[in-house]
Amino acid sequence: MSNVLIIGAGIAGLTAGIYARKSGFDVTIYEARTGAGGNCTSWRRKGYLFEGGLHWLTGSGADQPLHRVWREVGAITDETRFGQNDPFMTCDWHGQQVCLYRDVAKLETHLCAVSPEDKPLIRRLCRDIIRFTVFSMPVMNIPLLKTSAKTTSIVTLIKMLPALLRVMPLGAQSVMAYAARFKHPAIRLLLTSTVNPNYDAVALLVTLGCLAAGDGGYIKGGSLTLAANMAKRFEDLGGVIRYGKKADHVLVKNGKAWGAVIEGETVPADAVIVTSDALIAIDTLFDPPIREGWARTMRAKTCRPGALVMCSLVSIGVETDLSNHPESTTFPLENSFEYAGRQISRLAYKLYSDSAGYAPRGCSTITLTISSDSYDYWKKAREQGRYDECKKELFEQILAGLEKQLPAIRGKVAVWDVATPLTYERYCGTYHGSWMTLTPAGSMRVSYPTKPKRIRNCYFAGQRIMPPGGTPVAVSTGRTAAQYLCRDFGAVFVT
Ligand SMILES: Cc1cc2nc3c(=O)[nH]c(=O)nc-3n(C[C@H](O)[C@H](O)[C@H](O)COP(=O)(O)OP(=O)(O)OC[C@H]3O[C@@H](n4cnc5c(N)ncnc54)[C@H](O)[C@@H]3O)c2cc1C
Repeated sequence: MSNVLIIGAGIAGLTAGIYARKSGFDVTIYEARTGAGGNCTSWRRKGYLFEGGLHWLTGSGADQPLHRVWREVGAITDETRFGQNDPFMTCDWHGQQVCLYRDVAKLETHLCAVSPEDKPLIRRLCRDIIRFTVFSMPVMNIPLLKTSAKTTSIVTLIKMLPALLRVMPLGAQSVMAYAARFKHPAIRLLLTSTVNPNYDAVALLVTLGCLAAGDGGYIKGGSLTLAANMAKRFEDLGGVIRYGKKADHVLVKNGKAWGAVIEGETVPADAVIVTSDALIAIDTLFDPPIREGWARTMRAKTCRPGALVMCSLVSIGVETDLSNHPESTTFPLENSFEYAGRQISRLAYKLYSDSAGYAPRGCSTITLTISSDSYDYWKKAREQGRYDECKKELFEQILAGLEKQLPAIRGKVAVWDVATPLTYERYCGTYHGSWMTLTPAGSMRVSYPTKPKRIRNCYFAGQRIMPPGGTPVAVSTGRTAAQYLCRDFGAVFVT
């Protein structure tokens, strides 16, 4: 049996490991941290659970092509339950509630009532949402693979054509520019709070279409459950995860990977799958660094200003029951504040209740994701010994805004936590703590190869390989890496 060494037990690494194991390989995953999941993670503080990764899952819907893949890797089981919050997001515009309903007809009626002067644009938006309900990430097999694995049917692909025709015009504008055409400020705020405003508008429509199709649910138990399910599936199949084992570099001889050095120890293997951030890996895990054309493109496109998606995640445990409030809300701040060189004039928060196990009885958890490239800000703060002080400052500014929105939390904060891009960098080893990559509006999306040209038996998978990233890309690239492995070793790819 050929043995495979995988670097990283995030979603991509676990996926590659599960398929490789099913296909008959002897697989060991080396994970730098003490647990599986990578960016797909959550943490507990004083009895409160802070969701630090997944907010919604593409492929939760049973009729989605990706659903089968999530089931094959054990992420979704018969016991898995999903929350389908509807409205997905609510905008509280100075007391007026403007809702992003999943039901397109209800959404159209509601938005038209909120803003009659935006009717033509709202109708167009809703038509596009319907087109995008059939748009999904196809599940394909690589050429010349020995397998009985099903792929997305041609009928499903043909059904996507009407949405594909809208990709060019929507892809040419950012979510911000798309939303700016609406006259009502609440609709603008709602749309730009649902998807990162710097994404192209295709990302917005893909998201809205996914929600309208009954997909994009939140797995009960969140990131931890998803990752734990996959780690269990891998270990039940006989795979081994070595935690707390950081790979120093991949061993390459005569153009072939033959193992890795893990914490100073040489570990031979017939093949190596790298699922830690590829942008970091091409420079630090290979000696010499990988200089193939695609690697140069990856460095240039990912390190460009505005391309890295990162955030500071502010989490607050409060001793009050907020279960009668909408799950996700965005609102304009009365007093905007400056943070990391940017003016913050609105907030968006998510609420988690005690009944779902996120907080002690009668209490609630609130999380807010402040997305911006704040890496240098936090780095400087740390160098100046002001890191904790800056965290406190950010928390206090956010709390001041939140208390106006949710007066019930005043004086009820039991615990708070700020995870910065430096936290994600330290925890996941990703470049500047980023967990997705943005392609600017109007630019071509570039995907990177699974196999380097000049190193045999070496494969890449993970969020960085196919922008924008996210768990669908992690699972999909992990599957593709396992397929190349099977093809190269003459094995049948088993699902
Ligand atoms: C706040 C937040 C919200 C998000 N929301 C969503 C969402 O709603 N939906 C969605 O789909 N996605 C979401 N994402 C993105 C998603 O979580 C990530 O894109 C995805 O989990 C990436 O998986 P991965 O396996 O490619 O990489 P990672 O998660 O980065 O996993 C890589 C693993 O490799 C390990 N590693 C790194 N270097 C080494 C080394 N040298 N040796 C050994 N191990 C190493 C790391 O510790 C890590 O465990 C979110 C992420 C964050 C942070």
